[in-house]
Amino acid sequence: MAETPTPSSVAATTPTHVSTGQLPSPEHVQAVIEAGYERFRGVDEGAVADYIPALAAASPDLFGVCVAGTGGRSFSVGDAAVPFSIQSVSKPFVFALVCDAIGHEEARRRLGVNSTGLPFNSVMAIELGQDRTTNPMVNSGAIATTSMVPGDDAAAKWRFIQDGLSRFAGRRLEVDQHVYESEAAANRRNQGIAHLLDGYELLHFDPDEATDVYTRQCSLAVTAEDLAVMGATLADGGVNPMTGERVIDASHCKRVLAVLATAGLYEHSGSWLYEIGIPGKSGVSGGIVAIAPGKGGLGVYSPPLDVAGNSVRGQLLATFLSEALGLNLFASRPEPVAAP
Ligand code: GLN
Repeated sequence: MAETPTPSSVAATTPTHVSTGQLPSPEHVQAVIEAGYERFRGVDEGAVADYIPALAAASPDLFGVCVAGTGGRSFSVGDAAVPFSIQSVSKPFVFALVCDAIGHEEARRRLGVNSTGLPFNSVMAIELGQDRTTNPMVNSGAIATTSMVPGDDAAAKWRFIQDGLSRFAGRRLEVDQHVYESEAAANRRNQGIAHLLDGYELLHFDPDEATDVYTRQCSLAVTAEDLAVMGATLADGGVNPMTGERVIDASHCKRVLAVLATAGLYEHSGSWLYEIGIPGKSGVSGGIVAIAPGKGGLGVYSPPLDVAGNSVRGQLLATFLSEALGLNLFASRPEPVAAP
């Protein structure tokens, strides 16, 4: 009698089919991002984060957008080359590197992958979870992720993260020392989260050192152009389309995108997916990365945030681009949209 096929054996027999398409023509992409930039640059809602003192100095007027395609082309407008600290947008990329190092199943077992429905720095989220795991996109799961990075000491773990995120960006990324020092002097809440996790034996390194490496990772300076290339690397099955280098294995890449889809915008992740229909990740300095699998990455920088800590203009722009470029993963046929 024939064996009943398992889901993974079925998948293994059909490796040539993927659920994706292509970006529109280069001229169309450039016209659409310029139209989106003009449409939302005057929006003045939201507030620049100030719980990390160095972030409060950012101009609320900064607004940069970049789309990088998996074919290796990129399209920018506005302040797309202005550096800012990556903050929580580092989380999916460090998670990706950890999945690549230990396997996505082991990463799921140790970190959890379900959304918490609570703010990014919630302690309650740890307490409410049955096994005390959260997910790698909120602070508790992200600090646990950083604690699992290969390396025997903090310096080795840091090197792994800096090298890995630089490979995602296709250029050497450096720490914004001012932001690092400012956050390091004000991150007792994250230290508390790390010690709580340690108490539940969910941390895999010294809690204070893990928090310090995490703070450094959040202080890496990037631009909207970097975020677009980093996103395009996840869109391209783990290969950086600009350098051609494989950064992580494709089998882990799609798991990273799944966690982003459910938890990338914290307690607003449902609304984000409902509107925009592709995985994304925000950070408190005003960065957003969004990934259209197979097509490309979007990087936006605009510091004013909503109450959940997500860039206001970034979300508006992502909504606009998702419609105008046909990025929504849940759309099964083209819908008429207004010309840019
Ligand atoms: N470094 C910030 C923190 O840990 C990152 C948070 C964020 O960007 N949402 O508080």
